[in-house]
Amino acid sequence: MSLDIQYRPHHYEDVVGQQGTVRILREICRTNKGFQQSYLFAGSHGSGKTTTARIFAKSLLCESPVEGQACDGCDSCIRFKAGTLPNYIEVDAATHSGKADMKKIVDSLSFATFSGNRTIYVMDEAHQLSRDALDALLKPMEDPIRGSEDKQLVCIFCTTEPEKMRATILSRCAPAFVIRKPAVQDIVDRLKYVADQEEITTEDPALVALVEATRSHMRDALKALGSLSTIGGATWDNVVSYLGLGNQDLYFDVIDSIGVDLPKVIDSADEIMSTTSPTSFYNTLLEIIMVAHRVHCQLTGIPSYMPTDRVHTSAQSQSTFLVNIAQKVADRVSKPSKNMVLCDLAVLHHMKAGTLPSYVPTTQQSTPSQVRPNTSPSNNSSPGIHETADASVNIGEKDGVFAPMRATKGFLPDVASQPDLIENGHLSRDAFFLLLRQRTDEIKNSKSSLPKAVDRP
Ligand SMILES: [Zn+2]
Repeated sequence: MSLDIQYRPHHYEDVVGQQGTVRILREICRTNKGFQQSYLFAGSHGSGKTTTARIFAKSLLCESPVEGQACDGCDSCIRFKAGTLPNYIEVDAATHSGKADMKKIVDSLSFATFSGNRTIYVMDEAHQLSRDALDALLKPMEDPIRGSEDKQLVCIFCTTEPEKMRATILSRCAPAFVIRKPAVQDIVDRLKYVADQEEITTEDPALVALVEATRSHMRDALKALGSLSTIGGATWDNVVSYLGLGNQDLYFDVIDSIGVDLPKVIDSADEIMSTTSPTSFYNTLLEIIMVAHRVHCQLTGIPSYMPTDRVHTSAQSQSTFLVNIAQKVADRVSKPSKNMVLCDLAVLHHMKAGTLPSYVPTTQQSTPSQVRPNTSPSNNSSPGIHETADASVNIGEKDGVFAPMRATKGFLPDVASQPDLIENGHLSRDAFFLLLRQRTDEIKNSKSSLPKAVDRP
């Protein structure tokens, strides 16, 4: 059994970092004061909403709770743990969001024989429930099913996006319980406890890095600890290797070289993406940039696995341009290719170096036949249509995926001389990058001085 399942909390004492919420929930169960039929647990992914909801549900169903907590000894608790309690139903609304799904669940109520006097639904990702599904669910809450008038139907809604919850639910649940992510040290302490029980070797700095890199996500951290136990434990070297934190310097090389040294930007990004997906590259780059931006704004918060000196250097060297880089990275397409990433970096480089001229819209929808030297620009406002020094060429994809830009004067090879790269009047991102790559390679192979576009300012 994996560690995250084996050590999933079954008691309030094991819930990390939610003392305030736990105190209130225990009081509700102990005194029955403040008891409602609907509850809302809101919190980010991995914060422990569903786990807390389960423990609360178990205590509400327990036949003889102790100090507001399930006794673990009664028939209800035993069947709850075994997953055979008919009056506890957990629904993943992400996959069962329709009216038919909900009706099936609600209809099953009238056939079930309840051992207790409550039936509890825990609705995970509840914001995805459709209006019809909610109506089907709320009806038996307000209009009890015949023969079960003495039963209480209780709904616990868990969501990462409470703002998407329907007003009919919010008005029944106020106030919502906000489940916050636990503090790094609280999760580290929990990992140490688990590691002690399982006799897994750990190092404190490695555990801190592990928790930071898994974004304080308890389940992910426990899963990682389980995997690390098979390769000698959560030592610094193992954590860095397992979580791919060893190429931080390359990311800083990319950031620091933008606007200064294009070949180094491309080479460093190339090297990172030889072992990392473009999506993962963008995510990590954005994270590092925002950490550097925090430092630039004189805020604290450098994760322990990042080289502090390099964060400070990037914060100083890119200064306010960090925001431009972050915006470009954050605006990425959902499934970027490696060439899209490299192209975006090249655009950023030229923006920073001041070698990216503003584009001139043209009036006609260009076709391949229009791509010829010395064509003067017209006045079309179509997006993605731009003019180069030598030819009128569309650079950018029709769907606007590729940010508007113009080939850099004197840097790219003559686009018009390679008409096979132009399709329907558009030079695609990949084609643009191909040209850019040719040019970059030429520069790298050349012993002569670099052209102005890549000169250090
Ligand atoms: Zn019990």
